[in-house]
Amino acid sequence: MVFLISKKKLLIFVLFLCCSIVGLSSNNKVTTIKYIEEEKEMNTYVVGHQNPDTDSICAAITYANLKQELGKEVEAIRIGKVNSETEFVLDKFDIEAPRLVEEVSADDEIILVDHNEKSQAIAGIEEAEVKEIIDHHRIGDIETGNPIYFRNEPVGSTCTVIAKLYQENDVELTDDMAGLLLSAILSDTVIFRSPTCTVTDEKIANRLAEQLGVEIEEYGKKLFKAGSVVNKLSPRELVQNDYKEYEFAGETIGVGQIEVMDVAEVEGIKDEIITASEKLVAENDYKFLILMVTDILAEGSLLLFTPGAEKTVGEAFDVEVDRSEVYLDGVLSRKKQIIPVLSDYLTT
Ligand code: MG
Ligand code: MG
Ligand code: MG
Repeated sequence: MVFLISKKKLLIFVLFLCCSIVGLSSNNKVTTIKYIEEEKEMNTYVVGHQNPDTDSICAAITYANLKQELGKEVEAIRIGKVNSETEFVLDKFDIEAPRLVEEVSADDEIILVDHNEKSQAIAGIEEAEVKEIIDHHRIGDIETGNPIYFRNEPVGSTCTVIAKLYQENDVELTDDMAGLLLSAILSDTVIFRSPTCTVTDEKIANRLAEQLGVEIEEYGKKLFKAGSVVNKLSPRELVQNDYKEYEFAGETIGVGQIEVMDVAEVEGIKDEIITASEKLVAENDYKFLILMVTDILAEGSLLLFTPGAEKTVGEAFDVEVDRSEVYLDGVLSRKKQIIPVLSDYLTT
């Protein structure tokens, strides 16, 4: 009996000892972690999606600027090449492109703008800590360990949300920041023409344009022109950029399509496009080839075609054609508005 009690006491004593040691060591642990946190420099990056567009780059810059104005140390970064449209914007408002960072690590905190899906995010996102998300897309698959600031609105552009955040935080917009926000809104909403554009986007863009003394339609067109493929691809590449072959009554035709903000963009290179098209016709034994130059703003398409197509195009669409071109008002879709008409004409 005596032996049993003392054994029990011993057990309790041992247990107590163990708890003390564990408590002591976990206390030590907490102190150590705290110490490291105080000492370690965490990088906080504001970053847009892969293959960044103007909204992603401008959102990263302007949101980083807002955080800095609010006393936070953050840096805007990018995870891909700056496209020519964005380059135009950064040049115009004299702002440097964010630093290229290809991967983040466990030492980094990140604020995501203009995306919230892992597949679109920076490499290493699983290790880094996502601190905030500012976006305008469907909710994706990013998970966080802690509650975060997550602002997502169904508007046309992330920069619309960021413009609101400046207002909500009483931070005045400098002209360069206003310029980036405006540019991104016009880019993402295709100058208010996209079905994703909302009244909020228009209201905010108009306010920004007023601050800058910018005429929206004119500036928007310049913006899209700067980003157009017309000046970047050879005539042959332009024809083949988005290109399909069709067979009607045993003969093959080719129809390519490019989208522009103004058909005048191809004014100086029409002859070269036709020459390149003629080569493709000869190489592939086509009946003819048509390039649709679709004007998104005017909502119509200029058809540029090889010799031999003028009769078909004229009669099929019931229009007067020039030697090698015709403008079809209201025609935007190859699949719905061009191919069925040609098919009807050529197969009956
Ligand atoms: Mg985007
Ligand atoms: Mg966007
Ligand atoms: Mg876009």
